[in-house]
Amino acid sequence: MNHFPLFADLHGKDVLVVGGGAVAERKARSLLSAGACVTVGAPEIGRSLRTLQAGGTIRCINTSFAEDWLDDIWLVIAATNDRSLNQQVAAAAQARRLFCNVVDDPELSSFQVPAIVDRAPLTIAISSGGSAPVLARRLRERIESLFDHSLGTLAELARQKRPEIRRALPDLAARRGFYDWLLDGPVFQALRRGHEDEAQTLLDDALAAGQTIRPGKVVLVSAGPGDPGLVTLKALRALNEADIILHDRLVSREILGLARRDATMIHVGKTPGEDHEATQSRIHRLMVEHAEQGRYVVRLKGGDAFIFGRGGEELEYLADHGITYEVVPGITSALACAAYSGVPLTHRDHAQSVRFITAHRHKHASPEEWRAMALPGQTLVFYMGVGQLDGLAAQLIGNGRTPDTPFALVENGSMNSQRALYGTLGELAGQAAKHSIRSPALLILGEVAALGPRLAWFGARISAPETEPLAALP
Ligand code: SAH
Repeated sequence: MNHFPLFADLHGKDVLVVGGGAVAERKARSLLSAGACVTVGAPEIGRSLRTLQAGGTIRCINTSFAEDWLDDIWLVIAATNDRSLNQQVAAAAQARRLFCNVVDDPELSSFQVPAIVDRAPLTIAISSGGSAPVLARRLRERIESLFDHSLGTLAELARQKRPEIRRALPDLAARRGFYDWLLDGPVFQALRRGHEDEAQTLLDDALAAGQTIRPGKVVLVSAGPGDPGLVTLKALRALNEADIILHDRLVSREILGLARRDATMIHVGKTPGEDHEATQSRIHRLMVEHAEQGRYVVRLKGGDAFIFGRGGEELEYLADHGITYEVVPGITSALACAAYSGVPLTHRDHAQSVRFITAHRHKHASPEEWRAMALPGQTLVFYMGVGQLDGLAAQLIGNGRTPDTPFALVENGSMNSQRALYGTLGELAGQAAKHSIRSPALLILGEVAALGPRLAWFGARISAPETEPLAALP
Protein backbone atom coordinates (compact mmCIF):
# COMPACT_ATOMS: atom_id res chain seq x y z
CA MET A 1 0.00 0.00 0.00
CA ASN A 2 1.57 3.27 -1.09
CA HIS A 3 -0.79 5.58 0.74
CA PHE A 4 -2.63 5.17 3.99
CA PRO A 5 -6.31 5.99 3.36
CA LEU A 6 -7.72 8.40 5.89
CA PHE A 7 -10.98 10.31 6.37
CA ALA A 8 -10.09 13.58 8.08
CA ASP A 9 -12.50 15.52 10.28
CA LEU A 10 -11.91 19.12 9.20
CA HIS A 11 -14.88 20.71 10.96
CA GLY A 12 -13.81 24.08 12.31
CA LYS A 13 -10.16 23.52 11.34
CA ASP A 14 -8.09 26.06 9.43
CA VAL A 15 -7.10 24.91 5.96
CA LEU A 16 -5.06 26.83 3.38
CA VAL A 17 -5.57 26.83 -0.36
CA VAL A 18 -2.80 28.56 -2.30
CA GLY A 19 -4.06 29.83 -5.67
CA GLY A 20 -6.91 32.03 -6.84
CA GLY A 21 -8.24 30.36 -10.00
CA ALA A 22 -10.88 27.78 -10.88
CA VAL A 23 -8.99 24.81 -9.44
CA ALA A 24 -8.42 26.64 -6.16
CA GLU A 25 -12.11 27.46 -6.09
CA ARG A 26 -13.11 23.82 -6.61
CA LYS A 27 -10.83 22.72 -3.79
CA ALA A 28 -12.10 25.50 -1.51
CA ARG A 29 -15.70 24.48 -2.13
CA SER A 30 -15.07 20.85 -1.41
CA LEU A 31 -13.20 21.71 1.80
CA LEU A 32 -16.10 23.97 2.80
CA SER A 33 -18.55 21.14 2.29
CA ALA A 34 -16.51 19.15 4.84
CA GLY A 35 -16.88 21.99 7.35
CA ALA A 36 -13.33 23.39 7.12
CA CYS A 37 -12.42 27.07 7.76
CA VAL A 38 -10.84 27.93 4.42
CA THR A 39 -8.23 30.58 3.72
CA VAL A 40 -7.41 31.24 0.08
CA GLY A 41 -4.17 33.06 -0.72
CA ALA A 42 -2.92 34.45 -4.05
CA PRO A 43 -1.95 37.79 -5.56
CA GLU A 44 -4.95 37.55 -7.87
CA ILE A 45 -8.18 36.02 -6.68
CA GLY A 46 -11.01 35.09 -9.05
CA ARG A 47 -14.49 36.57 -8.93
CA SER A 48 -16.41 33.67 -7.40
CA LEU A 49 -13.82 33.23 -4.67
CA ARG A 50 -14.14 36.95 -3.94
CA THR A 51 -17.91 36.51 -3.73
CA LEU A 52 -17.40 33.74 -1.17
CA GLN A 53 -15.12 36.08 0.76
CA ALA A 54 -17.65 38.90 0.63
CA GLY A 55 -20.26 36.53 2.05
CA GLY A 56 -17.92 35.66 4.91
CA THR A 57 -17.63 32.02 3.81
CA ILE A 58 -13.86 32.09 3.25
CA ARG A 59 -10.93 34.29 4.21
CA CYS A 60 -8.65 35.65 1.47
CA ILE A 61 -5.03 36.84 1.58
CA ASN A 62 -4.41 39.00 -1.44
CA THR A 63 -0.58 38.94 -1.67
CA SER A 64 2.26 36.66 -2.77
CA PHE A 65 2.81 33.49 -0.77
CA ALA A 66 4.59 33.89 2.56
CA GLU A 67 5.53 31.10 4.95
CA ASP A 68 3.58 32.61 7.81
CA TRP A 69 0.38 31.75 5.90
CA LEU A 70 0.98 28.30 7.34
CA ASP A 71 0.69 29.45 10.96
CA ASP A 72 -2.14 27.56 12.72
CA ILE A 73 -3.01 25.61 9.56
CA TRP A 74 -3.92 21.89 9.61
CA LEU A 75 -3.74 21.08 5.94
CA VAL A 76 -2.50 22.75 2.75
CA ILE A 77 -3.53 22.51 -0.87
CA ALA A 78 -1.39 24.17 -3.53
CA ALA A 79 -3.47 24.87 -6.61
CA THR A 80 -1.47 27.38 -8.61
CA ASN A 81 -0.23 26.91 -12.15
CA ASP A 82 3.30 27.93 -11.15
CA ARG A 83 5.32 24.79 -10.37
CA SER A 84 8.11 26.61 -8.55
CA LEU A 85 5.59 28.33 -6.31
CA ASN A 86 3.87 24.99 -5.70
CA GLN A 87 7.29 23.58 -4.84
CA GLN A 88 7.92 26.40 -2.40
CA VAL A 89 4.54 25.81 -0.70
CA ALA A 90 5.19 22.05 -0.50
CA ALA A 91 8.66 22.60 1.00
CA ALA A 92 7.36 25.09 3.57
CA ALA A 93 4.58 22.67 4.55
CA GLN A 94 7.04 19.80 4.80
CA ALA A 95 9.31 21.83 7.10
CA ARG A 96 6.35 22.29 9.45
CA ARG A 97 5.23 18.65 9.08
CA LEU A 98 1.99 19.75 7.51
CA PHE A 99 0.28 17.55 4.96
CA CYS A 100 0.24 19.22 1.57
CA ASN A 101 -1.44 18.28 -1.69
CA VAL A 102 -0.23 19.86 -4.91
CA VAL A 103 -2.98 19.47 -7.46
CA ASP A 104 -2.03 17.00 -10.20
CA ASP A 105 1.54 16.70 -8.91
CA PRO A 106 2.01 13.47 -6.94
CA GLU A 107 5.76 14.07 -6.66
CA LEU A 108 5.28 17.24 -4.61
CA SER A 109 2.27 15.97 -2.64
CA SER A 110 2.35 14.36 0.76
CA PHE A 111 -1.33 13.37 0.50
CA GLN A 112 -3.72 12.67 -2.34
CA VAL A 113 -7.32 13.77 -2.65
CA PRO A 114 -9.38 10.78 -3.79
CA ALA A 115 -12.27 10.74 -6.24
CA ILE A 116 -15.37 10.32 -4.12
CA VAL A 117 -18.86 8.89 -4.32
CA ASP A 118 -20.88 10.92 -1.86
CA ARG A 119 -23.77 9.11 -0.19
CA ALA A 120 -23.48 11.13 3.02
CA PRO A 121 -22.93 10.02 5.70
CA LEU A 122 -21.42 7.23 3.60
CA THR A 123 -18.42 8.19 1.47
CA ILE A 124 -16.59 5.94 -0.97
CA ALA A 125 -13.13 7.24 -1.86
CA ILE A 126 -10.99 5.96 -4.73
CA SER A 127 -7.35 6.81 -5.28
CA SER A 128 -4.66 5.69 -7.66
CA GLY A 129 -2.06 7.34 -5.42
CA GLY A 130 -1.78 10.14 -7.96
CA SER A 131 -0.58 7.79 -10.71
CA ALA A 132 -3.77 7.72 -12.80
CA PRO A 133 -6.41 10.15 -11.53
CA VAL A 134 -8.47 9.70 -14.70
CA LEU A 135 -8.74 5.98 -14.00
CA ALA A 136 -9.88 6.73 -10.47
CA ARG A 137 -12.51 9.09 -11.83
CA ARG A 138 -13.73 6.45 -14.33
CA LEU A 139 -14.05 3.95 -11.50
CA ARG A 140 -15.90 6.54 -9.50
CA GLU A 141 -18.47 6.86 -12.33
CA ARG A 142 -19.00 3.12 -12.28
CA ILE A 143 -19.41 2.96 -8.53
CA GLU A 144 -21.66 6.00 -8.69
CA SER A 145 -24.04 4.03 -10.90
CA LEU A 146 -23.95 0.95 -8.66
CA PHE A 147 -25.29 2.53 -5.50
CA ASP A 148 -28.37 4.63 -5.68
CA HIS A 149 -28.90 7.62 -3.44
CA SER A 150 -31.10 5.77 -0.98
CA LEU A 151 -27.87 4.21 0.30
CA GLY A 152 -27.09 7.58 1.93
CA THR A 153 -30.50 7.59 3.60
CA LEU A 154 -29.91 4.04 4.83
CA ALA A 155 -26.52 5.00 6.27
CA GLU A 156 -28.12 7.97 8.03
CA LEU A 157 -30.81 5.73 9.48
CA ALA A 158 -28.17 3.25 10.65
CA ARG A 159 -26.26 6.13 12.26
CA GLN A 160 -29.31 7.28 14.20
CA LYS A 161 -30.16 3.76 15.33
CA ARG A 162 -26.62 2.66 16.12
CA PRO A 163 -26.86 2.87 19.94
CA GLU A 164 -30.18 1.02 19.88
CA ILE A 165 -28.82 -1.66 17.56
CA ARG A 166 -25.82 -2.14 19.86
CA ARG A 167 -28.07 -2.44 22.87
CA ALA A 168 -30.48 -4.88 21.22
CA LEU A 169 -27.73 -7.03 19.70
CA PRO A 170 -24.61 -6.99 21.89
CA ASP A 171 -23.16 -9.95 20.02
CA LEU A 172 -21.01 -8.84 17.06
CA ALA A 173 -22.02 -11.71 14.76
CA ALA A 174 -25.68 -11.03 15.43
CA ARG A 175 -25.10 -7.35 14.72
CA ARG A 176 -23.41 -8.20 11.45
CA GLY A 177 -26.42 -10.31 10.50
CA PHE A 178 -28.67 -7.40 11.35
CA TYR A 179 -26.71 -4.99 9.14
CA ASP A 180 -26.87 -7.56 6.31
CA TRP A 181 -30.60 -7.64 6.78
CA LEU A 182 -30.72 -3.83 6.75
CA LEU A 183 -28.89 -3.67 3.44
CA ASP A 184 -30.49 -6.62 1.69
CA GLY A 185 -33.91 -6.74 3.26
CA PRO A 186 -37.14 -4.79 3.24
CA VAL A 187 -35.77 -1.65 4.95
CA PHE A 188 -33.50 -0.75 2.05
CA GLN A 189 -36.18 -1.79 -0.44
CA ALA A 190 -38.64 0.58 1.23
CA LEU A 191 -36.07 3.40 1.03
CA ARG A 192 -35.50 2.67 -2.64
CA ARG A 193 -39.19 3.07 -3.22
CA GLY A 194 -38.96 6.39 -1.38
CA HIS A 195 -40.96 5.17 1.66
CA GLU A 196 -38.89 6.47 4.54
CA ASP A 197 -41.62 6.12 7.16
CA GLU A 198 -42.17 2.49 6.24
CA ALA A 199 -38.42 1.83 6.44
CA GLN A 200 -38.28 3.39 9.89
CA THR A 201 -41.22 1.29 11.13
CA LEU A 202 -39.74 -1.91 9.68
CA LEU A 203 -36.46 -1.22 11.40
CA ASP A 204 -38.07 -0.41 14.74
CA ASP A 205 -40.25 -3.54 14.56
CA ALA A 206 -37.26 -5.70 13.72
CA LEU A 207 -35.31 -4.27 16.65
CA ALA A 208 -38.23 -4.77 19.00
CA ALA A 209 -38.58 -8.38 17.86
CA GLY A 210 -34.82 -8.91 17.99
CA GLN A 211 -35.03 -10.01 14.36
CA THR A 212 -31.63 -10.85 12.95
CA ILE A 213 -32.34 -13.28 10.15
CA ARG A 214 -32.96 -11.61 6.86
CA PRO A 215 -35.63 -13.31 4.80
CA GLY A 216 -34.46 -14.67 1.47
CA LYS A 217 -35.77 -13.59 -1.88
CA VAL A 218 -35.44 -14.33 -5.56
CA VAL A 219 -34.72 -11.69 -8.17
CA LEU A 220 -35.54 -12.79 -11.68
CA VAL A 221 -32.87 -10.96 -13.62
CA SER A 222 -32.84 -10.61 -17.40
CA ALA A 223 -29.25 -10.45 -18.63
CA GLY A 224 -29.84 -9.33 -22.22
CA PRO A 225 -28.51 -11.07 -25.32
CA GLY A 226 -24.80 -11.32 -24.50
CA ASP A 227 -23.10 -7.93 -24.83
CA PRO A 228 -22.33 -6.92 -21.20
CA GLY A 229 -22.98 -3.31 -22.22
CA LEU A 230 -26.65 -4.21 -22.56
CA VAL A 231 -27.02 -5.28 -18.92
CA THR A 232 -29.19 -2.80 -17.02
CA LEU A 233 -27.96 -1.00 -13.91
CA LYS A 234 -30.58 -2.82 -11.87
CA ALA A 235 -29.36 -6.19 -13.14
CA LEU A 236 -25.80 -5.19 -12.30
CA ARG A 237 -26.84 -4.20 -8.82
CA ALA A 238 -28.61 -7.54 -8.28
CA LEU A 239 -25.54 -9.43 -9.57
CA ASN A 240 -23.44 -7.52 -7.07
CA GLU A 241 -25.69 -8.36 -4.16
CA ALA A 242 -26.49 -12.01 -4.91
CA ASP A 243 -25.50 -14.92 -2.67
CA ILE A 244 -26.55 -17.50 -5.25
CA ILE A 245 -26.83 -17.11 -9.01
CA LEU A 246 -28.81 -19.71 -10.93
CA HIS A 247 -28.01 -19.15 -14.59
CA ASP A 248 -28.83 -20.55 -18.00
CA ARG A 249 -26.55 -21.64 -20.80
CA LEU A 250 -27.36 -18.52 -22.81
CA VAL A 251 -25.86 -16.10 -20.29
CA SER A 252 -22.42 -15.04 -21.52
CA ARG A 253 -19.23 -15.50 -19.53
CA GLU A 254 -18.55 -11.75 -19.55
CA ILE A 255 -21.89 -11.15 -17.84
CA LEU A 256 -21.25 -13.80 -15.20
CA GLY A 257 -17.94 -12.02 -14.64
CA LEU A 258 -19.87 -8.95 -13.42
CA ALA A 259 -21.25 -10.82 -10.43
CA ARG A 260 -20.02 -10.58 -6.85
CA ARG A 261 -16.83 -12.62 -6.57
CA ASP A 262 -17.99 -14.78 -3.70
CA ALA A 263 -21.47 -15.49 -5.04
CA THR A 264 -22.14 -19.17 -5.68
CA MET A 265 -22.80 -19.80 -9.38
CA ILE A 266 -25.01 -22.70 -10.32
CA HIS A 267 -25.48 -23.60 -13.96
CA VAL A 268 -29.05 -24.83 -14.19
CA GLY A 269 -29.29 -25.51 -17.93
CA LYS A 270 -30.63 -28.79 -19.22
CA THR A 271 -28.31 -31.71 -18.43
CA PRO A 272 -27.86 -34.64 -20.85
CA GLY A 273 -30.70 -37.11 -20.61
CA GLU A 274 -32.92 -34.73 -18.60
CA ASP A 275 -36.19 -33.53 -20.14
CA HIS A 276 -37.33 -29.91 -20.05
CA GLU A 277 -39.87 -30.50 -17.33
CA ALA A 278 -37.33 -32.17 -15.04
CA THR A 279 -34.91 -29.27 -15.60
CA GLN A 280 -37.64 -26.78 -14.81
CA SER A 281 -38.71 -28.48 -11.59
CA ARG A 282 -35.07 -28.71 -10.49
CA ILE A 283 -34.78 -24.92 -11.00
CA HIS A 284 -38.01 -24.31 -9.09
CA ARG A 285 -36.77 -26.43 -6.19
CA LEU A 286 -33.37 -24.73 -6.06
CA MET A 287 -34.88 -21.23 -6.01
CA VAL A 288 -37.22 -22.03 -3.15
CA GLU A 289 -34.65 -24.00 -1.16
CA HIS A 290 -32.06 -21.21 -1.19
CA ALA A 291 -34.55 -18.41 -0.58
CA GLU A 292 -35.98 -20.30 2.38
CA GLN A 293 -32.49 -20.44 3.84
CA GLY A 294 -32.43 -16.65 3.82
CA ARG A 295 -30.30 -16.21 0.71
CA TYR A 296 -30.46 -13.55 -1.95
CA VAL A 297 -31.05 -15.64 -5.05
CA VAL A 298 -30.60 -14.27 -8.55
CA ARG A 299 -32.29 -16.30 -11.25
CA LEU A 300 -30.39 -15.09 -14.31
CA LYS A 301 -31.76 -15.56 -17.80
CA GLY A 302 -30.65 -14.61 -21.29
CA GLY A 303 -32.50 -11.85 -23.12
CA ASP A 304 -35.69 -10.97 -21.29
CA ALA A 305 -37.08 -13.44 -18.78
CA PHE A 306 -40.67 -12.84 -19.88
CA ILE A 307 -40.03 -13.54 -23.56
CA PHE A 308 -39.76 -17.27 -24.21
CA GLY A 309 -37.88 -17.52 -20.93
CA ARG A 310 -40.39 -19.38 -18.73
CA GLY A 311 -40.12 -16.43 -16.34
CA GLY A 312 -43.87 -16.49 -15.80
CA GLU A 313 -43.88 -20.12 -14.68
CA GLU A 314 -41.04 -19.51 -12.27
CA LEU A 315 -42.83 -16.57 -10.67
CA GLU A 316 -46.04 -18.59 -10.35
CA TYR A 317 -44.08 -21.25 -8.47
CA LEU A 318 -42.48 -18.64 -6.18
CA ALA A 319 -45.85 -16.99 -5.54
CA ASP A 320 -47.39 -20.39 -4.68
CA HIS A 321 -44.60 -20.98 -2.18
CA GLY A 322 -44.82 -17.55 -0.57
CA ILE A 323 -41.31 -16.47 -1.63
CA THR A 324 -40.64 -12.74 -2.07
CA TYR A 325 -39.51 -11.85 -5.58
CA GLU A 326 -38.64 -9.01 -7.92
CA VAL A 327 -38.27 -8.91 -11.70
CA VAL A 328 -35.64 -7.02 -13.67
CA PRO A 329 -36.49 -6.74 -17.37
CA GLY A 330 -33.82 -6.97 -20.04
CA ILE A 331 -33.17 -6.53 -23.72
CA THR A 332 -34.68 -9.44 -25.56
CA SER A 333 -32.66 -10.93 -28.41
CA ALA A 334 -35.19 -9.66 -30.99
CA LEU A 335 -34.42 -6.05 -30.07
CA ALA A 336 -30.69 -6.63 -29.82
CA CYS A 337 -30.37 -8.65 -33.04
CA ALA A 338 -32.44 -6.08 -34.91
CA ALA A 339 -30.31 -3.20 -33.61
CA TYR A 340 -27.00 -4.98 -34.18
CA SER A 341 -27.90 -6.08 -37.72
CA GLY A 342 -29.31 -2.76 -38.93
CA VAL A 343 -32.93 -3.96 -39.23
CA PRO A 344 -35.53 -1.64 -37.69
CA LEU A 345 -38.40 -3.90 -36.60
CA THR A 346 -41.02 -1.37 -37.64
CA HIS A 347 -40.74 1.27 -40.31
CA ARG A 348 -43.31 3.80 -41.43
CA ASP A 349 -43.10 2.61 -45.03
CA HIS A 350 -42.58 -1.12 -44.62
CA ALA A 351 -43.91 -2.63 -41.39
CA GLN A 352 -46.68 -1.47 -39.09
CA SER A 353 -46.44 -4.28 -36.57
CA VAL A 354 -44.03 -6.87 -35.25
CA ARG A 355 -44.61 -10.33 -33.79
CA PHE A 356 -42.31 -12.39 -31.61
CA ILE A 357 -42.96 -16.06 -32.31
CA THR A 358 -41.35 -19.26 -31.13
CA ALA A 359 -40.44 -21.39 -34.12
CA HIS A 360 -41.91 -24.39 -32.27
CA ARG A 361 -45.32 -22.90 -33.11
CA HIS A 362 -44.58 -24.11 -36.59
CA LYS A 363 -45.78 -27.61 -35.69
CA HIS A 364 -48.99 -26.47 -34.02
CA ALA A 365 -50.20 -23.30 -35.73
CA SER A 366 -53.66 -23.41 -37.29
CA PRO A 367 -54.26 -22.52 -40.98
CA GLU A 368 -55.75 -19.16 -39.90
CA GLU A 369 -52.64 -18.42 -37.87
CA TRP A 370 -50.41 -19.20 -40.85
CA ARG A 371 -52.45 -17.01 -43.13
CA ALA A 372 -52.22 -14.15 -40.63
CA MET A 373 -48.45 -14.64 -40.34
CA ALA A 374 -48.05 -14.64 -44.10
CA LEU A 375 -49.61 -11.18 -44.52
CA PRO A 376 -47.25 -8.51 -45.84
CA GLY A 377 -46.46 -5.22 -44.05
CA GLN A 378 -45.50 -6.87 -40.77
CA THR A 379 -42.26 -8.14 -39.27
CA LEU A 380 -42.02 -11.66 -37.87
CA VAL A 381 -39.29 -12.54 -35.42
CA PHE A 382 -38.75 -16.25 -34.87
CA TYR A 383 -36.93 -17.46 -31.76
CA MET A 384 -35.39 -20.94 -31.57
CA GLY A 385 -35.74 -21.50 -35.29
CA VAL A 386 -32.41 -22.71 -36.64
CA GLY A 387 -33.50 -26.35 -36.87
CA GLN A 388 -36.83 -25.63 -38.53
CA LEU A 389 -36.13 -23.05 -41.22
CA ASP A 390 -37.19 -25.38 -44.02
CA GLY A 391 -40.64 -26.07 -42.59
CA LEU A 392 -41.17 -22.43 -41.59
CA ALA A 393 -40.37 -21.10 -45.05
CA ALA A 394 -42.55 -23.72 -46.75
CA GLN A 395 -45.57 -22.90 -44.56
CA LEU A 396 -45.20 -19.14 -45.00
CA ILE A 397 -44.79 -19.37 -48.76
CA GLY A 398 -47.62 -21.92 -48.97
CA ASN A 399 -49.86 -19.44 -47.19
CA GLY A 400 -49.08 -16.51 -49.44
CA ARG A 401 -45.83 -14.83 -48.27
CA THR A 402 -43.80 -14.20 -51.41
CA PRO A 403 -40.48 -16.05 -51.73
CA ASP A 404 -38.67 -12.74 -52.28
CA THR A 405 -39.60 -11.49 -48.77
CA PRO A 406 -36.29 -10.38 -47.23
CA PHE A 407 -34.89 -11.97 -44.08
CA ALA A 408 -32.01 -11.39 -41.66
CA LEU A 409 -30.76 -14.39 -39.73
CA VAL A 410 -28.59 -13.25 -36.83
CA GLU A 411 -26.29 -15.70 -35.04
CA ASN A 412 -24.74 -14.82 -31.62
CA GLY A 413 -26.42 -11.41 -31.79
CA SER A 414 -24.60 -8.54 -30.01
CA MET A 415 -21.57 -10.70 -29.25
CA ASN A 416 -18.15 -10.33 -30.87
CA SER A 417 -18.84 -13.53 -32.78
CA GLN A 418 -22.05 -12.15 -34.36
CA ARG A 419 -22.78 -13.16 -37.98
CA ALA A 420 -25.76 -11.81 -39.87
CA LEU A 421 -26.99 -13.53 -43.00
CA TYR A 422 -29.27 -11.53 -45.29
CA GLY A 423 -31.33 -13.02 -48.10
CA THR A 424 -34.86 -13.84 -49.24
CA LEU A 425 -37.37 -16.33 -47.88
CA GLY A 426 -37.14 -18.68 -50.87
CA GLU A 427 -33.49 -19.39 -50.19
CA LEU A 428 -33.57 -19.17 -46.39
CA ALA A 429 -32.91 -22.79 -45.43
CA GLY A 430 -30.34 -23.37 -48.19
CA GLN A 431 -28.32 -20.27 -47.31
CA ALA A 432 -28.44 -20.98 -43.57
CA ALA A 433 -27.16 -24.51 -44.17
CA LYS A 434 -24.51 -23.30 -46.60
CA HIS A 435 -23.12 -20.86 -44.04
CA SER A 436 -23.61 -23.28 -41.11
CA ILE A 437 -25.67 -20.89 -39.00
CA ARG A 438 -25.99 -22.36 -35.51
CA SER A 439 -28.02 -21.68 -32.39
CA PRO A 440 -28.46 -19.18 -30.82
CA ALA A 441 -29.76 -17.47 -33.91
CA LEU A 442 -32.79 -15.34 -34.54
CA LEU A 443 -34.78 -14.97 -37.74
CA ILE A 444 -36.21 -11.58 -38.69
CA LEU A 445 -38.53 -11.80 -41.64
CA GLY A 446 -40.26 -8.97 -43.46
CA GLU A 447 -39.78 -6.05 -45.79
CA VAL A 448 -37.64 -4.23 -43.18
CA ALA A 449 -34.93 -6.91 -43.42
CA ALA A 450 -33.97 -5.48 -46.82
CA LEU A 451 -32.54 -2.48 -44.97
CA GLY A 452 -30.07 -4.71 -43.12
CA PRO A 453 -27.28 -4.94 -45.70
CA ARG A 454 -27.34 -1.14 -45.98
CA LEU A 455 -27.62 -0.24 -42.29
CA ALA A 456 -25.55 -3.03 -40.72
CA TRP A 457 -22.71 -1.72 -38.59
CA PHE A 458 -21.65 -4.57 -36.32
CA GLY A 459 -20.10 -8.02 -36.66
CA ALA A 460 -19.71 -10.18 -39.76
CA ARG A 461 -22.14 -9.75 -42.62
CA ILE A 462 -23.07 -12.36 -45.18
CA SER A 463 -25.33 -11.28 -48.05
CA ALA A 464 -26.78 -14.01 -50.22
CA PRO A 465 -25.82 -13.05 -53.79
CA GLU A 466 -29.42 -12.82 -54.95
CA THR A 467 -30.21 -10.11 -52.43
CA GLU A 468 -30.33 -6.65 -53.85
CA PRO A 469 -30.32 -4.26 -50.94
CA LEU A 470 -33.57 -2.28 -50.83
CA ALA A 471 -34.66 -3.35 -54.32
CA ALA A 472 -37.15 -5.69 -52.71
CA LEU A 473 -38.88 -2.89 -50.83
CA PRO A 474 -42.30 -2.07 -52.26
N1 SAH B 1 -35.52 -15.02 -23.22
C1 SAH B 1 -34.69 -15.00 -24.40
C2 SAH B 1 -35.10 -16.03 -25.40
C3 SAH B 1 -34.87 -17.44 -24.97
S1 SAH B 1 -35.30 -18.61 -26.20
C4 SAH B 1 -34.74 -13.59 -25.00
O1 SAH B 1 -35.52 -12.75 -24.56
O2 SAH B 1 -33.94 -13.34 -25.92
C5 SAH B 1 -33.75 -18.92 -26.94
C6 SAH B 1 -33.70 -18.31 -28.32
O3 SAH B 1 -33.44 -16.92 -28.22
C7 SAH B 1 -32.56 -18.82 -29.17
O4 SAH B 1 -32.88 -20.05 -29.80
C8 SAH B 1 -32.41 -17.72 -30.18
O5 SAH B 1 -33.41 -17.79 -31.16
C9 SAH B 1 -32.71 -16.50 -29.34
N2 SAH B 1 -31.47 -15.86 -28.85
C10 SAH B 1 -31.11 -15.66 -27.59
N3 SAH B 1 -29.95 -14.99 -27.52
C11 SAH B 1 -29.56 -14.76 -28.79
C12 SAH B 1 -28.46 -14.11 -29.38
N4 SAH B 1 -27.49 -13.55 -28.64
N5 SAH B 1 -28.40 -14.06 -30.72
C13 SAH B 1 -29.36 -14.60 -31.47
N6 SAH B 1 -30.42 -15.22 -30.96
C14 SAH B 1 -30.53 -15.30 -29.64
